[in-house]
Amino acid sequence: MSNFRFKALEVTLTRKRKSFELPNKKVSEYFGEMTFNRDAMREFLTKEAYERLMGAINKGDTIERKITDQIAAGIKAWAMNKGATHYTHWFHPLTGTTAEKHDAFIVPIKGGRAIENFQGNELIQQEPDASSFPSGGIRNTFEARGYTAWDPTSYAFIMENTLCIPTVFISYTGEALDYKTPLLKSLSALDKSATAVYQYFDKNVKKVYATLGWEQEYFLVDAALFKARPDLALTGRTVFGHASAKDQQLSDHYFGTIHERVIDFMQDLEHESHRLGIPVKTRHNEVAPNQFECAPVYEEANISVDHNQLIMHLMEKVARRHDFQVLLHEKPYKGVNGSGKHNNWSIATDTGVNILAPGKTPISNFRFLTFIVNVLKGVDKYADVLRAHIATSGNDHRLGAHEAPPAIISVFVGTKISNTLDEIEKQLKKGKLNSTNFDLNINIPKIPEILLDNTDRNRTSPFAFTGNKFEFRAVGSSANCASPMTALNTIIAEQLKIFKIDVDALLNKNVKKDEAIFQVIKRYIKESKKIRFEGDNYSEEWLNEAKKRGLKNITNTPEALKMLLSDKAVKLFEGCDVLTKRELAARYDIQLENYTKKIQIEARVIGDIAKNHIIPTAIKYQNTLIKNVKGLKDVLDSKTFVKLSRNQLQSIKEISQHVEEIKDKVALMIEERKKANRIEDHSEKAIAYNKSVFPYLEDIRKHVDYLELMVDDELWPLPKYRELLFNK
Ligand code: ADP
Ligand code: MG
Repeated sequence: MSNFRFKALEVTLTRKRKSFELPNKKVSEYFGEMTFNRDAMREFLTKEAYERLMGAINKGDTIERKITDQIAAGIKAWAMNKGATHYTHWFHPLTGTTAEKHDAFIVPIKGGRAIENFQGNELIQQEPDASSFPSGGIRNTFEARGYTAWDPTSYAFIMENTLCIPTVFISYTGEALDYKTPLLKSLSALDKSATAVYQYFDKNVKKVYATLGWEQEYFLVDAALFKARPDLALTGRTVFGHASAKDQQLSDHYFGTIHERVIDFMQDLEHESHRLGIPVKTRHNEVAPNQFECAPVYEEANISVDHNQLIMHLMEKVARRHDFQVLLHEKPYKGVNGSGKHNNWSIATDTGVNILAPGKTPISNFRFLTFIVNVLKGVDKYADVLRAHIATSGNDHRLGAHEAPPAIISVFVGTKISNTLDEIEKQLKKGKLNSTNFDLNINIPKIPEILLDNTDRNRTSPFAFTGNKFEFRAVGSSANCASPMTALNTIIAEQLKIFKIDVDALLNKNVKKDEAIFQVIKRYIKESKKIRFEGDNYSEEWLNEAKKRGLKNITNTPEALKMLLSDKAVKLFEGCDVLTKRELAARYDIQLENYTKKIQIEARVIGDIAKNHIIPTAIKYQNTLIKNVKGLKDVLDSKTFVKLSRNQLQSIKEISQHVEEIKDKVALMIEERKKANRIEDHSEKAIAYNKSVFPYLEDIRKHVDYLELMVDDELWPLPKYRELLFNK
């Protein structure tokens, strides 16, 4: 058999488990050994350099040149000790992946020899020739200058003998060209407003930071089968493929026993992750066959984002070692669940308090409710900003399908909190609460015990409170979490800023502090009520209800992204000093272009595979049928022939019909593409791709998937869903 699919299947079926051994050590013995962590700093830095670096990490102090030279020397010594020969500035350009350009430590010296060298200036700043990274027009390519600058808050690490230094990436005119810069700025904005509000309750708190624990979903597919699917290889998803007779109906994969080849992969991944200080903790099978999840213990948001970027890279690398390909696309297979990346988010103080965990005392409950209500208010006001920050062509397949949160942003808080909020609002309506009868002990009901009850969960909400954190579930699996986290931090920073203004206005009128806070949160509860939804977000009723409430249901990326250009977004991001109007516009352009290109590539792939693989196969099979029918005619009497060839003839006709439809539709799709390509305006071009090109993808697929059911299995060129989803 020359069919590529069968060759791939043969490889898969005869695959042996790779011999692979974990080190015979406890994880705690090697955790973080490839990072320049506190222990390594203490060992390799002078006391002065260590203290100055701590000042930079904890308080954002600047470090003078003499000290950066000392730090660079320490990092170099540590890295060379671990076998590193090169170094690189590691950053998150707006392509969505991570970037690195390796330089060797060696510099030649007299006498034909060389020494290893690494100076402070090489640590703190570099100028990668980065003209090909997207900049949304901020940098013209002829002045392709941008620079990377060291982020000392994220530990340097070693990967493949290269010292990687986490950095931000900025244009020479100071605009952010990456995901990390605005994230860091949003964290600092959040710190400022949240600390100020927290001080109403506790003056000892000097710093508030965001925490993030992501849950990364992914698919594994055997490497040989992957290579036999050009669509998977080029677009990350299958553009064709009829549903398998069995896929996830029985839910027998979810939390099931993990296959040994998969467990090998997971253990190897965990080992690599742990060496790099990524605290991965959880692993399990997901709902769809061959779908899995891994999750770490949460960390400070900037570190956690770096770790997620790093683990996505590790996954690809380690998967290859185990003859798997990892699929991070949001929807690799039609008809089975797609993949998301839940962003579990909370805020914590430098005194070790998780602000979104309900407290044990009335005062901590009051504080807790204050922050929860501000989150509700912020998300209500800026739901469309959040929506814009999860918009990608891949995630369009997921949001609103009956498996993932819908594109309508709403917040679930659970019965207990919901009742508490309603209760407070009712008291407001009846005018029962005023400064004379106001008493925290009575009016703020106790919440803790019930909240920790895990049964009060809603798995259909895009943004759900889960007892001591919010879970932003609508983020796509391939996304850089920096983007949704930047949006969320900024929204909450802005909201808390306004809250403080509102409360202070009352304080200036001599209203008592507790009562002032209470009055403002009462008002916010009422004003943000429409964002709260406790029911089934996948239901038809919710669509109607949301419409009545005036909540937006933005189902496609070009439309969702428009928000970035709005005055509202500019005011928000500029007001918190996170992104400027120009930077937002650049981001808008980049995302849109990315959207257009992705659909363009998918459309090309569909056209190519349909014409070069599917149609020839269908015709080949049709010829067999024709030959057979002709043969029957020769050997049967005409009456019997008419009776017995009916279905065969019907199949011959149907194949021709599908082939014709495919050819026509591919031609029409190409026409629409040409039209769209002629549009200059990025926004209109993306809309044209969405409205005029994209619908053809599904349309063509339908015919191809029918043919898959008709054509002789032995001729079919592409690995089928049952093969992709069940082979390990
Ligand atoms: P699930 O949502 O699947 O029930 P868990 O409750 O175990 O899972 O938590 C999922 C993720 O939430 C983990 O990555 C965990 O570290 C993270 N998480 C827990 N507490 C916090 C917090 N305070 N801030 C941010 N993330 C958190
Ligand atoms: Mg979860």
